[in-house]
Amino acid sequence: MSKIIDGKLLAANIRANLKERSLDIAKRLGRAPALAVILVGSNPASQVYVQAKTKAGRECGITIIDKHLSDDSNQTQLIQTISELNNRKEVDGILLQLPLPKTGAFDEFEAIKAISPQMDVDGLHPLNQGLLLRGAEGFRSCTPLGVMRLIDEALRQLGVSSNIAGKKAVVIGRSILVGKPLGFLLLERNCTVTMCHSRTQNIEEECRSADILVAAVGVPEFVKGSWVKQGAIVIDVGINRTEAGKIVGDIQFNEVEAVASAITPVPGGVGPMTIAMLLSNTVDSAERKIVP
Ligand code: NAP
Repeated sequence: MSKIIDGKLLAANIRANLKERSLDIAKRLGRAPALAVILVGSNPASQVYVQAKTKAGRECGITIIDKHLSDDSNQTQLIQTISELNNRKEVDGILLQLPLPKTGAFDEFEAIKAISPQMDVDGLHPLNQGLLLRGAEGFRSCTPLGVMRLIDEALRQLGVSSNIAGKKAVVIGRSILVGKPLGFLLLERNCTVTMCHSRTQNIEEECRSADILVAAVGVPEFVKGSWVKQGAIVIDVGINRTEAGKIVGDIQFNEVEAVASAITPVPGGVGPMTIAMLLSNTVDSAERKIVP
């Protein structure tokens, strides 16, 4: 039986620490850290994510600036909103909730590029992604950061070294949001990284070679127990809704739990950590503005 790494608890501990840092920032900067959250349209899932981020942010003492653009808004209005926020000195971070609506001819990449890289607390601006590629300082995207913190928590709970240099890490999924940046974060820690995707051959074998296996596929219960090496650390990024309305990950939890040394649950694993990392990036951004 593996250790179940509780992302909800880890995220709560991180948020408690962020609350203290926010209070300290408020004293030293004369204001609390501030995050602008842009939601375009009325996609129910996006609304739920924005509500969760707003609630968690406020609980950490972060000022949330709501920017809701209606369903009939367009790219020009969105870029205008972003530009205004870029110029507000009291704003430390801008989150653009994705995906953008299919209507209104939105260009997601152009919108992300319009965010000032210094405000890009979601870590999706090409400059920040380029800095990651270089191994230089910059905002890292939130889900991959959350995954790394969960791996560290797994190592801590297993009582093994946090030095993962030379370990074989396999990431399933190569999206710009999760898989690719995560691959570079693992490389930064000197893992030997294999990226799998829909064209990968012998994916089961690739997975079986992993000391650390991360699934970011978007296919319910894709990874089976027989794909996992005994004692591997397994992180499940997937959020999938079954026909019965149940939320499941990309890992066949019951099967994999019997083989892995540590595993994250869905829900309650990567999801809460993604939000915690967004808030952490926002607090970091505000802290940088404090003149010593
Ligand atoms: P995405 O953009 O759809 O990317 C999915 C990746 O999986 C692609 O690289 C795709 O390969 C690969 N893939 C799809 N089917 C495959 C198959 N049969 N075999 C091997 N690889 C396959 O998704 P994403 O944005 O990265 O998200 C992945 C999952 O994580 C989703 O369930 C999403 O909801 C979840 N997610 C969770 C959080 C969180 O906070 N917990 C955050 C973001 C995403 P190709 O590139 O070849 O098409």
